[in-house]
Amino acid sequence: MMKKTKILLATALLALSASVLAADVQVEQGAIGRWAGAEATNCFFLGKSYKPVDGACYYPVDMAKRPAVYEIARTVNGVLETASLEVIEKPCELEEIDFPKEEYVNLSPEDANRHWGEQAEVKSVLRQTRPRDPEFSLALGKPSSPLPNGDNFGVCRKFNDIDKNRHTGIDYPVGMGNNVLSVAAGTVSLTGDHFFSGQSVYVNHGNGLTTMYFHLSEINVAKGDKVQKGDSIGKIGSTGRSTGPHLHLGARWLNQRINPNLLMTDPASYPQVNK
Ligand SMILES: [Zn+2]
Repeated sequence: MMKKTKILLATALLALSASVLAADVQVEQGAIGRWAGAEATNCFFLGKSYKPVDGACYYPVDMAKRPAVYEIARTVNGVLETASLEVIEKPCELEEIDFPKEEYVNLSPEDANRHWGEQAEVKSVLRQTRPRDPEFSLALGKPSSPLPNGDNFGVCRKFNDIDKNRHTGIDYPVGMGNNVLSVAAGTVSLTGDHFFSGQSVYVNHGNGLTTMYFHLSEINVAKGDKVQKGDSIGKIGSTGRSTGPHLHLGARWLNQRINPNLLMTDPASYPQVNK
């Protein structure tokens, strides 16, 4: 009896490694897979149907998506083609922050209530069940000129020794009062002065892609405004949970939290499906 169980287990492991080897593309959490090489008319992932960008299909993977093999698809000349995408775990680095403003670490009931109300509004803006056609090409533009380096996407954070949510964007150390630029054409879907993110702007670029700009000192646009790539939408500041001037840039694509630096990179460098 014992022997039989062991053999079954060995067979299961073999089957698992075979399926991993067979994945057509491997994508790290927070990154983007690409399927180019033919003029696609539709792309499919996560139960959604959406348009290609410049003929290629993109498959954004949330920074916390469960590592497993997922099916992706596209249509070319009316024919559905499928492939497999394996999500690879990317462990988060721990960032420990001594934060001087205690009210942002241990929230009062009033502030917690305010925060959750704001989150409900943000969620409704980010949830796009039927994405509009894309208004952008990759790579996107930069959110300030010049843009200093930033690399704290996805870090796990402790504020004053207390575990807090992972960082969902990138902080760029841009100086106070500099222009904040929209990284692509789109429509402003939300602006507000929020508890954690301070003065915030959300821009919907179609294709289920939204970029967000936090901690501004000034906002130059309003909900519903059309913007072009490189348009100034506000000024750098330090509002909300922030200790000094910087720009926090976040990106959601099909509601997946992805590394914004990748969107500013040549998409030929993304992991590719070759079949
Ligand atoms: Zn940030």
